[in-house]
Amino acid sequence: MMRVADEVRVESSTSRAPGVGLDDPRIGQALNTPVPARSLCTDCGISRTSDPKRCGRACQFISPNYPELETQVHGRARDTAAGDELFFGPVKAMYQAKLNAPLPGAQWTGITTRLAERLLETGAVDAVLTMKPDPEDRWRPVPTLVTEASELAHCRGMRMGYAPLLALLEPALDLGYKRLAVIGIPCQVYALRALEAELGFERLYVIGTPCSDNTTTESFHQFLDLLSDQPKTISYLEFRADYHVELRFDDGHKQIIPFLQLPISKLPPDFFPLTCRTCVDYTNALADITIGYMGGQGEQWLLVRNERGEELLSLLGDEIALTAPTSYGKRASAVKGFKANVERAAGGLPLRGMPDWVRPLVGWLMPRIGPRGLEFARTRVEMKAIETVLHLRREEPQRMKNMIPDHVWQLTAPYGLTSDSQERKPVDESGAKVQSAAEADA
Ligand SMILES: Cc1cc2nc3c(=O)[nH]c(=O)nc-3n(C[C@H](O)[C@H](O)[C@H](O)COP(=O)(O)OP(=O)(O)OC[C@H]3O[C@@H](n4cnc5c(N)ncnc54)[C@H](O)[C@@H]3O)c2cc1C
Ligand code: SF4
Ligand code: SF4
Repeated sequence: MMRVADEVRVESSTSRAPGVGLDDPRIGQALNTPVPARSLCTDCGISRTSDPKRCGRACQFISPNYPELETQVHGRARDTAAGDELFFGPVKAMYQAKLNAPLPGAQWTGITTRLAERLLETGAVDAVLTMKPDPEDRWRPVPTLVTEASELAHCRGMRMGYAPLLALLEPALDLGYKRLAVIGIPCQVYALRALEAELGFERLYVIGTPCSDNTTTESFHQFLDLLSDQPKTISYLEFRADYHVELRFDDGHKQIIPFLQLPISKLPPDFFPLTCRTCVDYTNALADITIGYMGGQGEQWLLVRNERGEELLSLLGDEIALTAPTSYGKRASAVKGFKANVERAAGGLPLRGMPDWVRPLVGWLMPRIGPRGLEFARTRVEMKAIETVLHLRREEPQRMKNMIPDHVWQLTAPYGLTSDSQERKPVDESGAKVQSAAEADA
């Protein structure tokens, strides 16, 4: 169901800079199309296109097929038998990275938007589809089509929440943008890849960021209200890989809070929607290149997944410093503890059973002895896999069979979390999954 407040906000924000097609009625219409109410949907935008039934084929939350799409996009599915692909998806090269001259307003150093700028500067694409901040609420993402490289500066930084990015694919084609770059989070990129062949773009570059623990922009404001007595002046927030949250304020001062001292216990149990507690693709495995931070030990973390990803990285030349990723510590006990907490929380937020006075000490120790670099990234991927299984088992068990890919079960198995016969699709003698009648008809 469409909420009237959202409708008005989208109209007003698309009539202001940055972004192009600002006054184009096709864009306003695409964004203002009502969204059907679904229990598991992050409004990626497909339900607002001319053929909303495509959600059935495109949705990460209905019946995802990662091996098939990985093969379509990268030429092969992830190798789940050895190395890090079980955790991170298909990878040709992985780096710790930073722009030598970090860009103002960027979430980290700005590799993501700089790549998109280079695509426009070199004429490789006609437009970039990404998010800009709502002029009335800087934390609210609003989809936009950008054709001027200089306008990407206004899109830098992270917003919390989701918005119908892919609703602008059809308007982009109508506007004649046949070579497109898309910057997206995993649930948007999954649907984009599922429909890529039928969309008919001449060329598509997909720049992905990892994503986890997203929530609605409204809920995120509740969190900001708990963090500061001046929440409206918070201009930046990041969950850093050193187990601290960094806040920046409009007057330039910073605040660093250890994870364990966050006011999580004051948040409502449904603060994180079921979509984001059960999403199976933390690292954006279907992007050409993924740009995050969690395997980067304080720098950015770059996963080049295919030849197009290599082409993208080459656009940065010596603007970017690349080093081999590092890995320290052991994750098993942290992941076991997390699993126990999620089980104990029974659907709510996984709080640690720890007296308040111990928290600062543990908060000090974690960045020093906890998993770091790639081991931190593996830790988070395993934790997400555990959350997926436990939350779906509790809240939507009938969806498990279709929603949970095999590689997620592989990730949870070492922690004693395995599927029963109702939770996993049967495999026929040739190794192929047996399709349900409903899927075969879809
Ligand atoms: C909700 C969310 C959760 C994230 N969680 C993790 C995580 O757990 N681990 C990790 O390694 N990385 C995570 N990231 C990615 C990380 O925050 C940085 O975006 C990434 O490292 C790129 O930094 P940058 O300086 O290169 O980006 P910039 O150059 O600043 O560009 C950021 C790009 O992200 C787009 N963007 C901002 N907000 C949104 C949004 N809500 N939806 C879609 N696109 C958006 C912007 O429009 C811009 O194009 C998350 C991102 C988001 C949006
Ligand atoms: S494909 Fe997108 S719009 Fe459709 S149900 Fe899934 S998340 Fe929602
Ligand atoms: S956590 Fe997953 S489902 Fe939630 S917004 Fe991010 S990619 Fe989408």
